[in-house]
Amino acid sequence: MELMSRTAAELSQMLADKEISAVELAQAALDKTAAVDGKVGAYITVAGEQALAAAKAVDEKRAAGEQLPALAGVPIAIKDNICTKGLLTTCASKILYNFVPPYNATVMEKLAASSAVITGKCNMDEFAMGSSCENSAMKNTLNPHGLGHVPGGSSGGSAAVVAAGEVPLSLGSDTGGSIRQPASFCGVVGLKPTYGAVSRYGLIAFASSLDQIGPFARTIEDAAMLMDAVTGYDPAHDSTSVQTPFEGSLRANLNADMKGLRIGLPKEYFGAGISDEVRQSVLASAETYKALGAEVFEISLPLVEYALPIYYILSSAEASSNLARFDGVKYGFRAEGCDELLDIYVKSRSQGFGHEVQRRIMLGTYVLSSGYYDAYYKKARAAQRKIRAEFAGAFEKCDVILTPVAPTTAYEIGSRTTNPLEMYAGDICTVSINIAGLPALVQPCGFDADKLPIGMQLIGPRFGEQKLMNAGLAFEQASGLRNIIAPL
Ligand code: GLN
Repeated sequence: MELMSRTAAELSQMLADKEISAVELAQAALDKTAAVDGKVGAYITVAGEQALAAAKAVDEKRAAGEQLPALAGVPIAIKDNICTKGLLTTCASKILYNFVPPYNATVMEKLAASSAVITGKCNMDEFAMGSSCENSAMKNTLNPHGLGHVPGGSSGGSAAVVAAGEVPLSLGSDTGGSIRQPASFCGVVGLKPTYGAVSRYGLIAFASSLDQIGPFARTIEDAAMLMDAVTGYDPAHDSTSVQTPFEGSLRANLNADMKGLRIGLPKEYFGAGISDEVRQSVLASAETYKALGAEVFEISLPLVEYALPIYYILSSAEASSNLARFDGVKYGFRAEGCDELLDIYVKSRSQGFGHEVQRRIMLGTYVLSSGYYDAYYKKARAAQRKIRAEFAGAFEKCDVILTPVAPTTAYEIGSRTTNPLEMYAGDICTVSINIAGLPALVQPCGFDADKLPIGMQLIGPRFGEQKLMNAGLAFEQASGLRNIIAPL
């Protein structure tokens, strides 16, 4: 079997058994990228030299008899909004086209402590705003399962790089679905952790109260492995991070016994607007769970109808404030021919930010302005509390909730770029999870008539990651839908 077709768990074992060296593995990953990334376009930056140097250091440690963590020597790609010391971090924006962070995000420190090998930085929608990767100022990423289709977004590069078999693992970020929807479109596993489970320090902020970093993988076990390495309380750098009950032990505690698991199917997620193929596939997964001994029943989450406006008000409000720091003075791009300070701000921001980012800044500034604050922002925060309460109520009746991830499978490149509202509507199944701060797992559950992957979403209560991974593993075993690499 070709090395890059293997799972992270298998590669980790082969490294530990000295069947392969970390340098060989890093070279195999780089070779695969050289062979396929010209088509897929998953990376903004390939860090070949650094990867080989890191791999060499791992081999030396192992040769010296050091006991190494599970991820030691395993190649991992990183979304380009996560700060990597000494490695270009653009957020796929012209305004950060030359930004080389002087520090590492906490997750990068954790990966370094795990001796993981970082292969490079992945394409995304500019500042993580978008659902198709088409808002990147750098390039297009194409769906490895159908090159005329989008990979999803905003973490489209991180999903595509794993689906294409260039690496077994990657990190993305999810503010309103940006890990889950591309995972679904590309046929891979993606986890949006409970808010606070992973430190946000060094994640370039979009909407701080909603953003979370999380893993992409091709199996549940691999996703658990990466999650185990990056999770954790970060008191020095992120006061919203917390100690979780599953700290570093998701993989060790995987258990696929589904007997008695209560699974809720919220009827609002299966109605009009969801394509027949997606609905049928997710409902078939529910049948699989029944056959495995789970109890499956209908529930109702009526407030989900309001999730989209709540999300776009809150996330844009936070973005307008977070992105104020990009002023042409401190980082990245500065417009030429400016006479005075205000001119630098206006021209650098007008030329440095793309249309979607400018649209969100304007919307966010509007909903925060006096006169509209009460009508929009304050109301959205109040509605957020109601959505949280509604989910809390649902989790008194069930252990996990099963839903589609997106209304359709991956659509054609260019087919939704002219109408932002149509693009926003595709986020209907994912945004409520961030609003409620909950964890949600996405994994493949089938294919449509064009052989494009269909994903399903399992939503858990706060810190219910273990339940999600267990349920994900049970489905993976029953369906055989695991370690899917796109034929390229
Ligand atoms: N698609 C959503 C948006 O455009 C979600 C983005 C995200 O999760 N970063 O805002």
